[in-house]
Order: sequence, then C-alpha cells, then structure tokens
Amino acid sequence: MRWISGILAGTLVACGPVAQDSAVAQTAPDTAKTDVPDRLANLVDDEFPEQFDWQQSFPSWYAAVEPYQIIGTGKMGIYFIGTEGLGMYFIPTDAGHIVIDGGMPGQGQYVADAIRTLGFDAQDVKILLNSHAHLDHSGGLAELKAMTGAQLIASEGDRSALEGGFYLGSEENSRANAPPVKVDRMIADGETLKLGNVTLTAHITPGHSRGCTSWTMPVVQSGKTYQALFFCSATVAANRLVGPPQYQGIVADYRKTFAMTKDWKPDIFLTNHPEFSDMLEKRARQKAGDPLAFVDRDGFPAMMDKLEQAFEAALQKQKLKYNAIMSD
Ligand SMILES: [Zn+2]
Repeated sequence: MRWISGILAGTLVACGPVAQDSAVAQTAPDTAKTDVPDRLANLVDDEFPEQFDWQQSFPSWYAAVEPYQIIGTGKMGIYFIGTEGLGMYFIPTDAGHIVIDGGMPGQGQYVADAIRTLGFDAQDVKILLNSHAHLDHSGGLAELKAMTGAQLIASEGDRSALEGGFYLGSEENSRANAPPVKVDRMIADGETLKLGNVTLTAHITPGHSRGCTSWTMPVVQSGKTYQALFFCSATVAANRLVGPPQYQGIVADYRKTFAMTKDWKPDIFLTNHPEFSDMLEKRARQKAGDPLAFVDRDGFPAMMDKLEQAFEAALQKQKLKYNAIMSD
C-alpha cells in the first residue's frame, strides 16, 4: 500500500499517512509469532541464548567514539554519533535535525550527549528514523523520543516490532526486546522525507527485518555533491530462513533486496555496524588529512556481493540442518 503524497513537507503536515495509519493498524499482523518446535530451536547459528549479556558479548557496541562530521559544508552534512560497534547518524537541517537509529536500550542519552558535543541542541531533533527494528538499532529510540519530542518515522513492515518492542518472529525471547516506541508516521519505498534544507529518500530493503529501511541523500562538500547511502542490513544474523521462518516471505525479501541494490553505487555508504563499511579506518584517514576519506564507490557493491554469498550459504546450511532434524 502506498499513499499518494510522496513528500512529507518540512513542517511534517503531510496528507496521506495519517489516514493510512488507521488502515494499517487494522490490517497489519501484530506479530509473526509461530511456535518453533523445541528441536528446531538451534537451527540458526546466532540464535539468542536464554542467558545473555549483550555488553559482555558485544563490548564494541558500548565503546564510546568521539562524534564527528563524516562529510559536509560548514555545520551541515552527515555526522557519526554512534559507538565503535553501532552506527548512529545525525543530520542537521535549518529546520531541526534528524537522527538515524538509537543504539541499544539505554543509549538514548549517549546519542543526545554526542549531539551536544557536536555543538547542536538535542532538543532540536525533530525526526527519528530507524534502519530496522532490532534492539541494537531501535533500543534507544523511546528514550530519545521522550527527551526530544521528535517524531518517529518508520516503515509499515517494522511498525509492529517497534511498537511492541519485540524481535519479529522471536517475540517469546525477552533478551531481544527493546523499549516499545510509537511510530508517528509511516514511510513507503521511494518516498521522500523533507525537513528544512535536507531531503532523504526511503528504500525498503527487506529481509534482515521485514521493514528494513535504507535511506539516501545528497550531501555537499567543497561545492561538490555526493550521494550518501545509509544501508539497513542484509546479514542473516539470528534470522530463521526455513522451518517456520522468521516471518513469511523472508527468503524472497532478501533476494529482492540483493536484486534491487545490484546497480547501486553510492559515493558514500554508511552502515549501522561500522565495521561493515570500515568506518574506523576511514575515520583514521580523515583525521590524517583526507577530507574525502568516506568516499568509497566500490565499497557498497563489494559488501553486497559478500552479503549475498553469505545469505545463500546460510540458507543452504539452515535447509540441511532442518532436513537432518526433521528426518531424525
Ligand atoms: Zn538487525
């Protein structure tokens, strides 16, 4: 379903999405909950164990990084406000600011502090976006929203998980929960979002989550315009692809995302796990004096090739495991 208005105006008084909201609430499935038989519980390599300490397992997600401008002109552009292992992004505009992703539960304050460190007022954040509804990227959004009063704009596919605070298809696993956060407005594939002097375009790249959302925007530095991509994700991670899948249609969704991104060649690609786009290494080069350290036109296609191969391998592995378990 798509609405007619492609543009959310600067004031965010847009036609369409409000009426669409109630229709979606009536028709969207609340969860993808399926009963996973006990014997299939270990199908996925990265399944969340019952007892789990995120900070112990992923210390880089909690390792602070000095926030910095990735690219831009004057105070405008794109900033990194994440941690060593989690990419959160800040986009100032002349009519309030945009934040993409909130990090882990409890990291809303970290994000707000990073914005202040950069010389902006976190209270001026007007829009919160989310790459996808998994706790390492959505966990801090509720806190950020309460702090700033910003509107959360997200895709229909991820709405139930954001509002329910669960990992779609693993609803029973409380370790994967995030603080529930209300989605104020929906965004569809190809739709643009305008705030002040910044325009972002949404690209629904599903699979890793049902509503996985990538964003593109032009950014200017030294008079030249660069196309930046904030890529959602296409790793398999904890997703069940077979048996009762994480959600219906997940395999077709991954393949759709690999197909649709085949000819994407952004000048700059940014990921919500910095290691996927070599952020630390690029930052080091920038600090050493390269103002275009983040321009990397071959990086995105190379990453997607690897992710596609990894996806097909994981699918084969899960199928074999599934067949072995079922024939036992
Ligand atoms: Zn994820």
